[in-house]
Amino acid sequence: MDESRVERFRVGILEWSEDNVRRYPWRDPESSLYEVFVAEFFLTQTPAENVAQVYPKFLSQYPSLEAVRRSDVASLADAIEPLGFQNIRSEALFTIASEYDSLPTDPTDLRELPRVGEYVANATACFALDAQIPILDRNVDRIYSRVFADEWPESPSEQTEFAAHLLPEGEARKYNLALLDFAAAICTPEPRCSECFANEFCMYYQSTSAGVDGSGEWSE
Ligand code: SF4
Repeated sequence: MDESRVERFRVGILEWSEDNVRRYPWRDPESSLYEVFVAEFFLTQTPAENVAQVYPKFLSQYPSLEAVRRSDVASLADAIEPLGFQNIRSEALFTIASEYDSLPTDPTDLRELPRVGEYVANATACFALDAQIPILDRNVDRIYSRVFADEWPESPSEQTEFAAHLLPEGEARKYNLALLDFAAAICTPEPRCSECFANEFCMYYQSTSAGVDGSGEWSE
């Protein structure tokens, strides 16, 4: 692994995030495990802006797992209808609330919950409990497969290992949030390479003769 490039990326993205962090209610460091879990559960296949429209009202109606348990699937579905997948989501949430007095704190156990995959489990544990673990979804994969194109492995287990190595010691929460914001603002599907701190060492950018900017124009 090119440790110099790894370190430049780590330092660069943390610096970039200082001025570019997005503020959402679920990112409040005081948010409970339940509040973060609900947000990450809703954010699956749903833009953050949509979740932000529904989230505060949902939490005022359902401030705890116990409140979810006292409700029913149809009422839950009504509350999250604007997000889509409301039937699937409400059934899963109700099942979780019915089967657990409180949410598990171990990412491996979180993964056992219905409709909860590795990303939601790891993001919940990292953002709510400061677990020092990587998060990997298609957005993070897009960044790493570009910056580290010559080293980014194909197998999921090796990708997890690679991503874990990139975590700055003790700063997983800040780093993982920065990755999400960077994927949404700069390293988008049509990347804004000319504005990117990483363009001097990003393999994707360096492998093109001039680099393509998200504006659709060639940049130097
Ligand atoms: S230089 Fe372009 S492709 Fe590389 S990380 Fe930055 S935005 Fe993404």
